[in-house]
Amino acid sequence: MKISVIGCGYLGAVHAASLASVGHDVVGVDIDAAKVESLSNGRSPIYEPELPELLRAGLESGRLRFSADMSDVNGATVHFIAVGTPQRLGSSSADLTYVDQAFADLMPYLAEGDIVVGKSTVPVGTAQRHVGNVQERGAHLVWNPEFLREGFAVKDTIEPDRLVYGVADGDEYAVETLNEVYATAIEAGSPVIVSDFATAELVKVAANAFLATKISFINAMAEIAEVTGADVTKLADAIGHDKRIGRKFLNAGVGFGGGCLPKDIRAFTARAEELGRGESVAFLKEVDAINLRRRERVVELVTEELGGSVFQKKVAVLGLAFKPNSDDVRDSPALDVAVRLNGLGANVVATDPQAMQNSRRLHPQLVYGTTEEALADADAVVVVTEWPEYKELDPAEVHRVVRTPIVIDARNCLDADAWADAGWEYAGLGRQVRN
Ligand code: NAD
Repeated sequence: MKISVIGCGYLGAVHAASLASVGHDVVGVDIDAAKVESLSNGRSPIYEPELPELLRAGLESGRLRFSADMSDVNGATVHFIAVGTPQRLGSSSADLTYVDQAFADLMPYLAEGDIVVGKSTVPVGTAQRHVGNVQERGAHLVWNPEFLREGFAVKDTIEPDRLVYGVADGDEYAVETLNEVYATAIEAGSPVIVSDFATAELVKVAANAFLATKISFINAMAEIAEVTGADVTKLADAIGHDKRIGRKFLNAGVGFGGGCLPKDIRAFTARAEELGRGESVAFLKEVDAINLRRRERVVELVTEELGGSVFQKKVAVLGLAFKPNSDDVRDSPALDVAVRLNGLGANVVATDPQAMQNSRRLHPQLVYGTTEEALADADAVVVVTEWPEYKELDPAEVHRVVRTPIVIDARNCLDADAWADAGWEYAGLGRQVRN
């Protein structure tokens, strides 16, 4: 099938390359000419495992190309909209400027029978706002939210846990066409859920609200553990054995971040308020507040461990990305902790395997270095992103290069006993300090 993908960021670039890899003819369109040039040359503008290989294979096969010119969507019959929906400046609601612009830009090229597929995460009611214009051109609209996880984006796109299509009443043609687009995933077992627009839009934000709540729930337990001497990691293991609860997303730590969860729960709250149902999701404000408090707690822990002040103390901050296997620093708790410590006068040296370039763009005032440079003569080490290379650090070896063996494990991802046995003072979140 001939497909266009409008917006080639974390979602769109992976979507375009993945659709080409299953045999479709795909053009990715983005207004960012530098991104288009990079993608066209087979260089991924983001760090995402498996994407470079997929890009190169797609370009070589001739089934994948990129363009900064919207008229290149001509000839495609299915158009995915994958532009950003960031938090609006000075508000908690979603900024729909990019989505609205993408629809407006696409309109002149829409032909009768085409399908427009919204993938961006949007406030409930957005599809309804656009469906009239799309149908006036004899085209169809589907809202097909995306659930990919950065770091696993290719796998999640090719083999999604489920596909959700929000369609206009009785639009069988749109359903059949999308089933063709996703034939490989469906054959491999991905279930398809067809709904109205509102349900499809809500499925996405409800899923993110649930995940955020689960993380903040265990972080709330961590806060209680901290004042009672309990251990939140054992608590999580114990309640996680209950199949109704499950162990996933119960890792207490510095909390969630990234370009989705934080802004999605805020936008959901704002939209519910507009709909006169603010009280239904008012708990999400508490979820957000618990999450943000954990960043403060990490800074507090570092301060406590350094005897009450971080001023002029060298702090090695290991990790800047909001999660491992990503270079994404949007609303990253790790970067936030580095910035806060730096603001308190600590001599922060921050490091990350993939996210230094993006961090530097946002926070040029920070000092960045290699892991070795960060650790050398450090007064404290803070692990804020659970990259495998940090989890695998040898506590005895690191002990030899730091000034003071103090480690703050803001992800509870290190082996606390091994670090304590190697002579470290180990402080995690929601657990007792060990030494
Ligand atoms: P992003 O900022 O990485 O990418 C958005 C891209 O759209 C940018 O490259 C931008 O230049 C381009 N763009 C903006 N306006 C355009 C226009 N009019 N025409 C063509 N291109 C345009 O954002 P992202 O992380 O890919 O997120 C996109 C959407 O997907 C958001 O709604 C997000 O909530 C949702 N989403 C993201 C993820 C994720 O893990 N990143 C997962 C699920 C859903």
